[in-house]
Amino acid sequence: MNTKIWLSSPHMGGEELKYIRQAFESNQITPFGNNIDAFENSLENYLSQNQGNAISVAALSSGTAAIHLGLVVLGIKAGDEVLVQSHTHIASVNPVLYLGAIPIFIDSEGETFNICPVILEEAIKDRIIKGKKPKAIIAVHLYGNPYKVDEVAAVAKKYGIPILEDSAEALGSKYKGKYCGTFGDVGVLSFNGNKIITTSAGGALITNTKSQKEKVIFLSTQARDNAPYYQHSELGYNYRMSNICAAIGRGQMEVLEEHIKLRRDVHEFYVRLFSKIPAVKVFSVPDEDSFSNYWLTVIVIDFSQTGGKTAEDLRFFLENKNIESRHFWKPMHLQPLYQEFDYYGGTVCEVLFMSGLCLPSGSNLTEEDKNHIEISLHLFFNL
Ligand SMILES: *Cc1c(COP(=O)(O)O)cnc(C)c1O
Repeated sequence: MNTKIWLSSPHMGGEELKYIRQAFESNQITPFGNNIDAFENSLENYLSQNQGNAISVAALSSGTAAIHLGLVVLGIKAGDEVLVQSHTHIASVNPVLYLGAIPIFIDSEGETFNICPVILEEAIKDRIIKGKKPKAIIAVHLYGNPYKVDEVAAVAKKYGIPILEDSAEALGSKYKGKYCGTFGDVGVLSFNGNKIITTSAGGALITNTKSQKEKVIFLSTQARDNAPYYQHSELGYNYRMSNICAAIGRGQMEVLEEHIKLRRDVHEFYVRLFSKIPAVKVFSVPDEDSFSNYWLTVIVIDFSQTGGKTAEDLRFFLENKNIESRHFWKPMHLQPLYQEFDYYGGTVCEVLFMSGLCLPSGSNLTEEDKNHIEISLHLFFNL
């Protein structure tokens, strides 16, 4: 039996240990230090490319923490309504509940699988008629694929509603040459173990100004006033990134471009493989405006052409071949935790959930792994 092939596993570049050692040598085993400064700097330089203005980044303990603080910075309070893409990871929406705010879910469109700008506007109009204008929009670049950035931004601008851009899966992806994470009023990155680069656990909040970044750091370190003792006037959090985690991130930034190239090679591999299997469509970005890091390569299966075999049948088959695959995110409005909240749209994200599958996409897949995957997929589809 082959060793397990994972969906997306950590892939170290080599220099991470050097920066960890530096932290030990300077005794910066702390939530502040050189590695945090250097990691933030390198993210800022990276994201500021092709950008009119400088981008600021605050390193935090997780992507979830970044979404929570992002909503705080946008002024979300208990009872406020927040519009959220339904097809997403649970972390996109849980912080809405942390704040006592009310999530309202929006369906996807079929071209990027992300938030549908048309339904988004319908929802906004309807909420305004019902007496409450939503306070924020959470849009997600799922699987690394940019959402319809211009269309969503136009709706947000028309109604004066800020965007929290969940770019947790899309570091390195671009829209019209600019990096994902820089389009919203605030943007979120995650460096969890299975993301395109990892700090073991970690995240970041991307802001447009240095003063907003300072505010985020202040909130993430217990909101301590400038006094000789511990005095607090505001509600803070303990969400700052550790200097050890940042050491890993520093090393990972040195291989980010290479990892994006490798993930895109994996996507190419699947496009080639499935070109012979008409029942399967590999997701590719709709046009040249979008550039995906292809964090995960995802497929949609047309059961009418598989003799009734489903996405779950394929997942189970691969599991028995020691290959991990994963269903699409189950829509939030279908989650037991969230089913009582309002939903706008049709069945796009439900159908995607039924028919989609995410395939092993790591930058560390070997030729042997790819061979095993190819043979297994041919077997399943009777080639
Ligand atoms: C991973 C992920 C998050 C959460 O990030 P963590 O670092 O795991 O807290 C948020 N949103 C999306 C879309 C994600 O994939």
